[in-house]
Amino acid sequence: MKQAQQLIYLDANATTPVLPAAAQAAMDAMEHLYGNPSSSHITGLQAKALMEQTRSAARRHLGTGAGKLVFTSGATEGIQTAILSALVASRDKGVADNACILYGATEHKAVPESLKHWNKVLGLNAEVLAIPVDQQGRLDLEFIAQKAPSAVLICTMAVNNETGVYQDMPALEQSIRQANPQVFWMVDCVQALGKLQLNLAATSIDYAPFSGHKLYAPKGIGMLYIRDGAPFTPFIAGGGQEGGLRSGTENLPAMAALKVVLDMLNGEGAQQFVDKDTLKYYRVRLLDALRSAFGDVVLNHSLDNTVPTTLNFAVPGFSSKEIMDLFDAAGIRVSSGSACSSKVTGSFVLDAMGLPRWQSESAIRMSFGPAMTEAELNAACERIVEAASSLRHSCLLSLDSRRSDVDREPLSGLVQLKDDGACCWIYTDPQSRETLIIDPLPALKDRLLNLIRCQELPVVAVIDTHGHGDHHSNRDDIVAGLSLSGACNQLGWPEVTADCQWQGERFECISVGSNKLLRLPSQGHTDDSQTLILIDDADKVLFAFVGDTVLPGSIGRSNFPSSSSRALFHSLKALYALLGDDTLLLSSHDYHNDFFTNFAVEIQQSPLLAAALQHRVDESSFVAQKDAMDATLEDKQGETIMCGAYGSCQGSKQIHEYSAGALDALLQADPNALVLDIREPHEYKLSHREERCINVPLTRLAGFVAREPDARSRPLVLICRSGSRSAVAAKALERFGFSAIAHVAGGYALS
Ligand code: PLP
Repeated sequence: MKQAQQLIYLDANATTPVLPAAAQAAMDAMEHLYGNPSSSHITGLQAKALMEQTRSAARRHLGTGAGKLVFTSGATEGIQTAILSALVASRDKGVADNACILYGATEHKAVPESLKHWNKVLGLNAEVLAIPVDQQGRLDLEFIAQKAPSAVLICTMAVNNETGVYQDMPALEQSIRQANPQVFWMVDCVQALGKLQLNLAATSIDYAPFSGHKLYAPKGIGMLYIRDGAPFTPFIAGGGQEGGLRSGTENLPAMAALKVVLDMLNGEGAQQFVDKDTLKYYRVRLLDALRSAFGDVVLNHSLDNTVPTTLNFAVPGFSSKEIMDLFDAAGIRVSSGSACSSKVTGSFVLDAMGLPRWQSESAIRMSFGPAMTEAELNAACERIVEAASSLRHSCLLSLDSRRSDVDREPLSGLVQLKDDGACCWIYTDPQSRETLIIDPLPALKDRLLNLIRCQELPVVAVIDTHGHGDHHSNRDDIVAGLSLSGACNQLGWPEVTADCQWQGERFECISVGSNKLLRLPSQGHTDDSQTLILIDDADKVLFAFVGDTVLPGSIGRSNFPSSSSRALFHSLKALYALLGDDTLLLSSHDYHNDFFTNFAVEIQQSPLLAAALQHRVDESSFVAQKDAMDATLEDKQGETIMCGAYGSCQGSKQIHEYSAGALDALLQADPNALVLDIREPHEYKLSHREERCINVPLTRLAGFVAREPDARSRPLVLICRSGSRSAVAAKALERFGFSAIAHVAGGYALS
């Protein structure tokens, strides 16, 4: 990496580091108090004493009164135990036909999944129902009042792990108990420990699970409170430890560490925790830093009914994944609401709160604990500003983008922006900076406008390759947003063009710097499809925007009302005659992350295309086969053209993987080997490998391929944050004929 960064850890709701004093206590227990608390010799008795001291510290802090406090391996076990206990007792009492089990819609997955599991295993067949929440994440008390009379168990949470939302416990308790004084009630208190004062025995809560690793104790230790008199069924039977409630030799080192934390909460021993007002001040400072860094920041919760240690927000225009990638490169660890897979998924918690879908897909959670120091806070705020300024450097943030003092990474060559399976292409001529926008996508409007304005690029044309079947072009918005003038047809092709001779044929053309963009009508997919071919001043073809006539792994479908398989047959032949095997083809859809293609690759993949281009099939036979292929297409939510048109996609070879150590050995052994960091420029700017590493962002992979035809046989090792983008890009390059391609498994995370 470029510089050794101090890590900014803002993901305390996921887990926390173990406090040094707690780690020391665990170490002491392992070295000196290693006895088994069940042993009756002195070493065992000493171990047992430590365990009981921890329990009594917990009892004091949680106000457990006459209730029980059992040590577990963590909250998931506590949740199982509570649910099992309540459901076994309900079963023994007899469960009515209309019985239900209620849980909050924003509950941690451990709760609903366990409920469904035990409901099935125990054969209760109760209806498992989610209690709705409002926009503030507050449980619907009317729903509870209505359903609770037939409920056998109600599960709610004290503090939500994604949003920090806490419930009004007295009001909730009143609703539950007024409706059903007998119903068992579990409250998941995992995120409340150290953040909310609990006085459990003063409530009618039956079960309350806790987890040590959310508050500076190690993983593997948890606690379960059981109200005095509440039924109990051991989840783990065996040697009879914990008074027979939970068998298994106790995790004493973790208990020793937990005791240090509990002592601090009880105001005993060395104090490292700041008070609630300080935590509130920290959160405001973080929010101020985010706002001054990113400009527009939308909070996904109110600051009023949330614990001060959680911030859940969205930066408009950026997915969770993009901000996670940025923050990771900046050495800031946060969490996203979504699963962060390549397919955008939102947060079920924010969805349940009824927040707009984009907020859920863009959600970022920052969380910290009471041991945060002001110095750590200051470092975090500085780093947030640094991360955002890197985005600005890439012209991705609109804030201050017109300021002449903003240091910008100049855009040059090809950029591919994607939204789901659709592609928009930007081409900037390196010398003149004249720019083309091909197939602008509605979802990318702001990003495109920001980029062009901030880069001060002269846009010569905004063109659609055809009238799209799955989305409306936002060509007009872009043209208006950039105040472009000049008459053009409905696809954006200028009315005033020149005539170009190329390969013995005449084309309408326009200039892009010293290059020419030629228009070739290519009916078939639609009746207005056109191919745009860029040639240089020596008449050499650079690449072609082929719309949906050819897609990586597929021929464009031709069963729209405006399609014609017959016309497609002739367009494909005409294109192949002009472009040959090797011209880089840039499509307007890419469903399988292949990014780009050429005819040589497609001929390998498609027997029908190969037969058409190699004159082995005539027009009528092509039409029959193509129509049969299109009949198998399944339209899915706007994804109208699928690789499945071929029956199946050809699998690619296994990509060679390097570990970080093996990569260093390769670089030493082979002076020709090169590392391609395929993260975006704003990530690369924040941190990257020093040695023989160049930045080839995924959005500019096509540009690299166009620019560096000789790189095909060079040993190239791709690296990214976690190894997923590099695996995708390596697969695409390998498909395209790069013969010595590999990637770093685990990416920077493991190097
Ligand atoms: N409940 C909540 C609210 C949580 O945040 C978590 C952890 O993410 C759990 C339950 C599960 O806790 P553990 O990791 O101790 O099993």
